[in-house]
Amino acid sequence: MDFEKYDIIIVGGGPAGFITGENITDKKVLVLEEHQEIGVPLQCAGLISVNGVKELGNPKGSVNKVRGANIFSKNNVFTVGNEKVRAEVFERKVMDKDIAKRASKRVDVLMKSYGKIKNSNQKRRNYITKSSLKEKFQKLEIMHLGESYEVCPKIIIGADGIRSNIGKSLQMNKKREIISGIQIEYANAKIDDDFVNVFYDKRYSERFFTWIIPLGNDRVRVGTCDSNNSYKKLTEFLKNNRIANEILKNATPIEFTSGAIPIGYSKTVTDNVMLVGDSAGQVKPLSGGGLYYGAKCGKICANTINNYFKGNYSLEFLKSYEKDWKKEFSKEIDKNLKIRRIFNMIDDGKIDRILEYVTKNNLLDIINEKGDMDSPSSVVWPILEKAVFGK
Ligand SMILES: Cc1cc2nc3c(=O)[nH]c(=O)nc-3n(C[C@H](O)[C@H](O)[C@H](O)COP(=O)(O)OP(=O)(O)OC[C@H]3O[C@@H](n4cnc5c(N)ncnc54)[C@H](O)[C@@H]3O)c2cc1C
Repeated sequence: MDFEKYDIIIVGGGPAGFITGENITDKKVLVLEEHQEIGVPLQCAGLISVNGVKELGNPKGSVNKVRGANIFSKNNVFTVGNEKVRAEVFERKVMDKDIAKRASKRVDVLMKSYGKIKNSNQKRRNYITKSSLKEKFQKLEIMHLGESYEVCPKIIIGADGIRSNIGKSLQMNKKREIISGIQIEYANAKIDDDFVNVFYDKRYSERFFTWIIPLGNDRVRVGTCDSNNSYKKLTEFLKNNRIANEILKNATPIEFTSGAIPIGYSKTVTDNVMLVGDSAGQVKPLSGGGLYYGAKCGKICANTINNYFKGNYSLEFLKSYEKDWKKEFSKEIDKNLKIRRIFNMIDDGKIDRILEYVTKNNLLDIINEKGDMDSPSSVVWPILEKAVFGK
């Protein structure tokens, strides 16, 4: 295989990788995917905001539309939402394949190929501009069907998800927190398809939350994320939670998923290497959703690359990608991280009181009007300030 013809190699055939690839213009792009099938294994609940769906290019695979959420604490509950559709639930396997199919009109794809940084740090000889003489160009090693190839694309993109071998080998994601998730999909469940159910109950998740998401046609996904023991906590939830028991009374498990979510920032540009999606920590810290940010940041990454080639700039120019995506999201991410720190500190009693505060003060109309899944801080932060700190 002639790898040298590619200007850009994207390691990872998930949504972030393909969306980045399809937005790069006039350059040869190759996407490497280690698995034998796009979108497998499933590591997602598939809930995407209406804006997120647009940003992903309205892919196939939507199975349900939801209008709101029942929010539970240990002893309280309220419902947010009205007639407006807020989010859709997707079959990631269908969605990821559809995005890949769309992108493959502009990029080449090599399945069953694994990419990693070859630590050579050599200067690239066939792409030297005056300002690039001192630049370090990382090389890539590609393993494919038992063979190993060493290649030097002008740009390497690590879109290789939470485990990000690319980011790790260049020590780009040292600071992030990792939480792990377990999810079971059930058939024959009995649920209102219009509302997701979210449980802020420390018995089942100390540092995140537990969910029941309707997929339509009597199917649901039930999962929890936490910093440890997620499987044990999900088992406890399934055994003891009254709502789960009602919904799953006659249900049958049909799919088991485990995965992890990065919380917090990574460095996203080093030499000729750029990270996008989960590998870059482009994830909403309060919900763990990474598809909306990943799609948007993929486009920002592609735009930086397009300008880099147009301007014949030095590698230093690539760093503007980090500035640009942070300009878009860091305000919200920072506030979300602050809110998370508070949630991690408070106990179930305090969470009960927050829910009580919302109901007693008739705040549901404001939440319905101003609440936004993609930027929840504008609603959550003022409530926390008043309910927790009495400000
Ligand atoms: C339990 C759980 C529930 C979630 N629920 C939601 C949700 O409801 N909504 C939402 O928006 N987000 C959700 N997420 C997060 C969401 O799944 C991720 O943010 C999203 O998949 C990130 O996309 P990506 O393209 O960056 O990475 P991925 O989708 O992980 O894709 C990375 C790809 O790279 C490939 N790869 C990895 N290393 C290599 C390598 N070295 N060489 C070649 N290929 C490689 C992998 O096989 C994979 O296909 C959830 C996550 C978990 C764990």
